[in-house]
Amino acid sequence: MVKEGVSQEQILREYFLKNPKKSIAHHDSVGWCINEYKKRTGKVFADPDRGIRKLHQEGFLIKEAKGVYRYDPDFVEKRDLEDFKPEIKKQIFERDCYKCVICGKGKADGMEIQADHILPKDKGGRATLENGQTLCSKYNFLKKNFSQTEFAKRVFIKLYEVSVSLKNQEMINFSKEVLISFEKYHIDDQIKWKK
Ligand SMILES: [Zn+2]
Repeated sequence: MVKEGVSQEQILREYFLKNPKKSIAHHDSVGWCINEYKKRTGKVFADPDRGIRKLHQEGFLIKEAKGVYRYDPDFVEKRDLEDFKPEIKKQIFERDCYKCVICGKGKADGMEIQADHILPKDKGGRATLENGQTLCSKYNFLKKNFSQTEFAKRVFIKLYEVSVSLKNQEMINFSKEVLISFEKYHIDDQIKWKK
């Protein structure tokens, strides 16, 4: 019998719900999911990698290392509590004059604005006024893919490369010092800076 309406996402969630608080490498979870999906629907599970990444982006899974994820019921509940309450969100927007703190555009410019955690939730950032900032939808989209520090490191790598090509020694030195600090504190070592 083929069960109707089981989605790939449901299968992935089911697997992690059955294995709470365990660090699970990619190949351990996908085998079961591919087999279960085939058994129940007769179909091939397409791109389980993407499904897992999506669950991580939604806050359901914690990413522990490259390809290693963990489901933690306490963590999921905690994250829900750490979303901005409407009144905090309003205070953040008011403090930032309803404008993106990066590009300065806001509702008046036809940009949608969002409240963002400066220190990300998955690194312990709380939903407080101090940890909140107003971002336009464009920058918030970039931040969904890169954390605050990842984004900054990419900006400074770009600045360094441009300064080198323009032979602007002051800006070369400046961006170099910032990038050396990134390396010193091992912030986002996965992003490589070619000196
Ligand atoms: Zn912006």
